[in-house]
Amino acid sequence: MSWHHDHEFRVTISGGSVAGLCNAISLRKLGATVTVHERVPGPMLARGAGIVVQRELIQLLAENGAGPLPFTTCRGRRYLDPDGGDGVLQDMPQEFTSWEAIHKALRAAVPGECYRADSEVMAMSQAGSKVSATLGDGSVVESDLFLAADGSGSAVRRQMLPDVEARYAGYVAWRGTLDERNVPSDLLPFFDDRFTFSEARNGGHMLAYFIPGPDGAVAVGSRRLNWVWYVHVGAAELANVLTDKDGTRHRSSLPRGSASAKAVGDLRARALRDIHPKMAALVSETPDPFLQSILDVTVPKTLFGRVLLTGDAAFVVRPHTAGGTAKAAYEASVLARALQSAGANVDVALQSTERLQLEYGNALYQYGLALGNRWSRDRSTD
Ligand SMILES: Cc1cc2nc3c(=O)[nH]c(=O)nc-3n(C[C@H](O)[C@H](O)[C@H](O)COP(=O)(O)OP(=O)(O)OC[C@H]3O[C@@H](n4cnc5c(N)ncnc54)[C@H](O)[C@@H]3O)c2cc1C
Repeated sequence: MSWHHDHEFRVTISGGSVAGLCNAISLRKLGATVTVHERVPGPMLARGAGIVVQRELIQLLAENGAGPLPFTTCRGRRYLDPDGGDGVLQDMPQEFTSWEAIHKALRAAVPGECYRADSEVMAMSQAGSKVSATLGDGSVVESDLFLAADGSGSAVRRQMLPDVEARYAGYVAWRGTLDERNVPSDLLPFFDDRFTFSEARNGGHMLAYFIPGPDGAVAVGSRRLNWVWYVHVGAAELANVLTDKDGTRHRSSLPRGSASAKAVGDLRARALRDIHPKMAALVSETPDPFLQSILDVTVPKTLFGRVLLTGDAAFVVRPHTAGGTAKAAYEASVLARALQSAGANVDVALQSTERLQLEYGNALYQYGLALGNRWSRDRSTD
């Protein structure tokens, strides 16, 4: 039985990634009947790589009996010089996890009957306080609340806010992970216990840290060394960069294993020219780097009747904030708390959720722009 009425409160969630699952666990705890529809069939592995652990996510997991979340730790940060200087260790302890570990912890807290893989939301419409979603198999589901957690390319956002576009920020993130057992012996102690950064000679910067292994193991020997290298790619060149080894053009990212041998070869050659030699060695040793283009999305509204945008469907913040998953967790907690305190006044709860979402989303978005612009400005003085 749900918290606000003597009848069921049904929630349909489009998207079974971090934002969709955060909402699923917090709304289920409240007593809502939740169904998550994820268009990807089967397990969602190898989606991303390292994530800096943030308080909002840990809190959401703890409050909803989910987790534990495996994480690695480091003592401090070090800023390398592209010319080979090894920088100084600054005391700044930090915790790191992986996309897979977060997804696994969240997914384990959502029962199988509440999660439908291979189920795409094709269309959505509203009448009064009911939302109807048409699914890929042609069936229609009705709910009291529809959450669009369908990511940066959100079809629901495009339907509700056709003028809002995901803008390309002018650079991409090449990413990679290297199993600890494959990390060359001179690189292992160099990167261990540190969050390492390096400016690149021709603009951009790279960072590296250890994350749990693919199975979540955090023991020394079982972890992965994770790196991200932000590289400027002009808008005209982007289509080439997003074309995989089979000639397929992707919308905004190249999945692991799909980059062409030439693209990977070019990246390795560029690393040798542009970044600290140990960072370049890391790029060379990584078998299958993958790529995400950096997008900016900001919205003037998240609420449309009983339809709420959440996670990257609402704002896409720059990854330098390390805040995307924290934002998803924060939004899920805010919604659950607002619904609980508003009782039967669902619309009041949704309005207060929207206010807080816009406040948090705009602040994080601006912070990300400032971090990204600082980097671009530094580049222009190279
Ligand atoms: C380079 C890079 C580094 C990052 N690093 C960090 C970091 O360190 N820390 C951090 O917190 N965040 C980081 N992020 C951001 C973080 O990954 C996201 O903000 C977070 O995962 C929230 O994503 P989401 O669930 O909203 O969307 P997504 O993960 O994009 O999920 C959307 C889901 O919806 C599904 N879907 C789409 N359309 C439909 C449909 N019609 N029907 C059904 N399902 C559908 C998709 O298949 C997908 O599974 C990074 C992002 C990038 C690009």
